[in-house]
Amino acid sequence: MKTANTTEVTKIQYREPGAGAIEFTKQYTEGLAMYEAAPVIKQLMKGDLHDQTDKRVKRCDYCGYYWRDDSLRNTKRTCSDECKKNVKTMQRRQQRADKELLDPNPKPKKHTLMDDYLWWLEYPFWIQEYSMIKVGWKFEKPSGVGLMDYVEASRERMGEGNRKKGVTHIDYHGDDRDLF
Ligand SMILES: [Zn+2]
Repeated sequence: MKTANTTEVTKIQYREPGAGAIEFTKQYTEGLAMYEAAPVIKQLMKGDLHDQTDKRVKRCDYCGYYWRDDSLRNTKRTCSDECKKNVKTMQRRQQRADKELLDPNPKPKKHTLMDDYLWWLEYPFWIQEYSMIKVGWKFEKPSGVGLMDYVEASRERMGEGNRKKGVTHIDYHGDDRDLF
C-alpha cells in the first residue's frame, strides 16, 4: 500500500480544490473558525487525519487534495467533474506539445504581419512597411472634420508646416528708410 510520506507531499502541485475535495475537507472543518480550520487543513493535506485504511480516500489527479471516491467501482481519479475536465484539457495540451516536439518535419509557423513588428525593443518598429500599413490603420484614429478644417485653415493662413512666414528686412542704413 502506498502511504503518504513527506517527500511525496512536497511534490504535490495544488490547484483550486474541486467540489469533491471541498466536500471531504468540510467533514473535518465543519463548525470551526477560520484560525481553527487552518491547522486542520494543513494536517489533512499531509494525509495525517483521514483513515489510512480507507481505499476510497485519494488525492485528486488535478487539484491535488484528498477526497473520497463514492463511485460504485472506486475507479475515479478526480474529485469533481470540473477537475476531470481540467485534467483532460491538460493531457490534450501535453499530447499536442509532445507531438510537436517529436515531429521530424514540423510545419513551419505561418508568418504573420505582426511578426514584422519588433515590439519588444525600447523603440518598437516595423521591419516591413507593408505590414505596418496593413496593420497600423486599424489602430489609428481618424481626425474629426473639425480638426481637419482647422489644420487646413492654418495651413492656408500660415503656409506649409504651420510656420508663420516672417517678413525679413535687411537693414543697410541703420534706420528705417529701406522700408519706404
Ligand atoms: Zn479535484
